[in-house]
Amino acid sequence: MQELAVKNATLVAVSKTKPAEDIQALYDAGQRDFGENYVQELVDKQAQLPKDIRWHFIGHLQSNKVKYIVPFVHLIHGVDSLKLLLEINKQSTKINRTTNCLLQVHIAQEETKFGFDKNELDALTEQLVAKSIDTSHVHIQGLMGMASFTENRQQVTKEFSYLQSLFADMANKLQNTGHRFNTLSMGMSADYAIALEHGSNMVRVGSLLFGERNYHK
Ligand SMILES: *Cc1c(COP(=O)(O)O)cnc(C)c1O
Repeated sequence: MQELAVKNATLVAVSKTKPAEDIQALYDAGQRDFGENYVQELVDKQAQLPKDIRWHFIGHLQSNKVKYIVPFVHLIHGVDSLKLLLEINKQSTKINRTTNCLLQVHIAQEETKFGFDKNELDALTEQLVAKSIDTSHVHIQGLMGMASFTENRQQVTKEFSYLQSLFADMANKLQNTGHRFNTLSMGMSADYAIALEHGSNMVRVGSLLFGERNYHK
């Protein structure tokens, strides 16, 4: 994965379903950014593993579970509604912490993937620029997206370059808002190389590092 260093991209090692020993082994090799999808699993692993790990929450986050992760999470990738963003702000305010967030954008063909569409993103951008919503304890630092699950590289390329253009546009609009909008999280084991060609500076890689996941153990 030399491309990552060349592109100055951050590797988030996606450790969902994998035991703490696997994470510790990669940690011992120098890896510090790890991604998890499930709140309970993240909370359990955070308690057992070294405290300087930067934990990324990359799954779908329910508002009622925000409070369990805001005390320690490094970056929440899947912020997919205004309601969730405001709940993260509220829980972060309570503990006087600022939580880093990425807005998830729906770019895939499948309907099951969560995220803002372009209109919703534009509406939120306007609110951020107008400062008409309270974001005092969230730092919106970029966008996250997942491409369609397909072998069709052209389709994936199209989706990533679309997200890249939304990112550039939003970065431009947010320039004077205090949000340092500089992170584009896209690319997984199957498509990270395409993502890097389209401006990704954070890739979330699981199976390529840890081996295939077995959900039925
Ligand atoms: C599981 C997951 C990944 C990693 O997937 P791999 O194909 O194993 O690299 C990346 N991002 C999200 C949001 C995931 O849920």
